Amino acid sequence: MSRSEHTLLQRADAAWNDWRWQLRHAMTGCHTGLLTFGVPEDIRAQVNLRYPVVISPYAFSLLDPANPRDPLNLQALPSAQELLAEPGTAEDPFGEQCDAACCHGLKRRFPDRVLVMAHDRCAMACRHCTRKNLLRGTDVVRTPAQLAAAVEWVRTHPEVREVLISGGDPLLLSDRRVAALVKAFADLPQIDAVRIGTRVPVTLPMRVTPELAVALGKSRKVWVNTQFNHVREITAEAAAACARLVDSGIPVSNQSVLLKGVNDSTDALFELCTGLQRIRVRPYYVFLCDPVSGIAHFRVPLAKARRMERELAVRLGGLALPRFVMDLPGADRKVPVNENFRSCSVPCQPR
Ligand code: SF4
Repeated sequence: MSRSEHTLLQRADAAWNDWRWQLRHAMTGCHTGLLTFGVPEDIRAQVNLRYPVVISPYAFSLLDPANPRDPLNLQALPSAQELLAEPGTAEDPFGEQCDAACCHGLKRRFPDRVLVMAHDRCAMACRHCTRKNLLRGTDVVRTPAQLAAAVEWVRTHPEVREVLISGGDPLLLSDRRVAALVKAFADLPQIDAVRIGTRVPVTLPMRVTPELAVALGKSRKVWVNTQFNHVREITAEAAAACARLVDSGIPVSNQSVLLKGVNDSTDALFELCTGLQRIRVRPYYVFLCDPVSGIAHFRVPLAKARRMERELAVRLGGLALPRFVMDLPGADRKVPVNENFRSCSVPCQPR
């Protein structure tokens, strides 16, 4: 290799490993890098209009161009099935958009926990996202004045002891803004934990720079929850990103979503959970799909989820065994799938 070729390759590497470059070059729109798998352009355009497509080059590089049913393709590429109507679903079944109890960007679902919507963008627009109907146009804490109002609301509600910073993906904000958000809440004496919900370890691992990891670890109150759904997402880059967080003193847990065609077999989840344990990420929850419109094709029947949880419990030790749960509108907690629960009309009823 000549010297100039070497320099060019180094520059290409530097760009690839720069998270801002990745965001600037994200695939958007209905062409999705020509991985269209025979879906007509007008259908792709309709889906993209309703649920815009975004895929970071890193996430795109993991897709399988030869297999439309590839588990990573299903999470990233638009499908006509997103437009299907499904009885019992809603765009915002948990009323996140109109939570009158809180101020802009702050949502309260449980008495001791609040959700702070910190951003409305993600490195990849996951096709199964529970907020796919909300992200565009949701209230987000954007300005110092809004942040001050949110902190003041929490301060005057001393029963709140945990803040979840999510979105969208809060780690797409600058280091300075992420640090300011975390510090503002972590400095309140009543707060025991600031949880960050982020998928960047999976879809944009270069965002977890050493500087960001150290900054987040400093508060000693930060926990990170991420979302690996398939073992192939545990790449060397993703493992390194998680290691940077863990080595900075941040507990990292994983909240998978149970997705038809992606991870709805005991073997697939066994591979995922053992892979996560190897990179020191604790498999924490497996969520059933929420009763949200646009994700009907990912839904796994409750009876199957119950069976899978029982089968996994035979094969995995406690540290690698996630709890299978679901969010139900109106419930006061996450509901374990193997628990008898009150009847409701959402599509995750036994069937
Ligand atoms: S990263 Fe999270 S919030 Fe963003 S699209 Fe994916 S699942 Fe939704």
